[in-house]
Amino acid sequence: MRYLIISDLHANLAALESVLADAGQFDAIWCLGDIVGYGPDPNECVELLRQHELVCLAGNHDWAALNKLNLATFNTDARAAATWTQRMLTDEVHDYLDALPSLVEEGEFTLAHGSPRQPVWEYILDPLVASINFMHFSTQYCLVGHTHTAVVYQQNTNGDGCRVHFPQYDRPIPLDKTRLIINPGSVGQPRDADPRAAYAILDADAMMWEHRRVAYPIEETQNRMRQHGLPHRLVTRLQYGW
Ligand code: ZN
Repeated sequence: MRYLIISDLHANLAALESVLADAGQFDAIWCLGDIVGYGPDPNECVELLRQHELVCLAGNHDWAALNKLNLATFNTDARAAATWTQRMLTDEVHDYLDALPSLVEEGEFTLAHGSPRQPVWEYILDPLVASINFMHFSTQYCLVGHTHTAVVYQQNTNGDGCRVHFPQYDRPIPLDKTRLIINPGSVGQPRDADPRAAYAILDADAMMWEHRRVAYPIEETQNRMRQHGLPHRLVTRLQYGW
């Protein structure tokens, strides 16, 4: 089986379409949450994903769009976008997002939006938080999103602490016997100073993992955001990748 691994689409349809076109053949999509929020096309992104074999997790922005969390925890721009998204969602998309699980196990992979310890909320931004999280899943690998930055944490073989690896794009790496927490980065709002959409391919037969980037028509998404009056700062950040 060949899986397309994506996260943090943030209603950026142009980015999602470019990823789907670039990914080649795959059997199923694993989406690690935050399909909506920030961007201009929440319904279209959900509908396009659902045309594929799909496992999808709930992210904090998906919950915000359902009013399932307190929007006071969001900054002003994120709150404005979440309120706009709440108004836009069709009943069908609302119900789909409402039914998403926050933690899933697929074979040797645990899937969560933020972390296995706190699936919707926690950011794994450093090796210390990653080390603690290795104790909170029992499979060999864990896939997370939420930080919008691609990274691999590799647990030390004695189980104490972990090492950080930054992705090398378009170069498949073997998934060996060590335990890993892997983040594929963000499709719709990358934050590593590279504005291209980030995603990954998992070949579960060969047990190979590949980080990838693909350029997409950013202005298309920005124009749609301006049409809908979404916050200027959210529009601008896409071209810089932060
Ligand atoms: Zn996100």
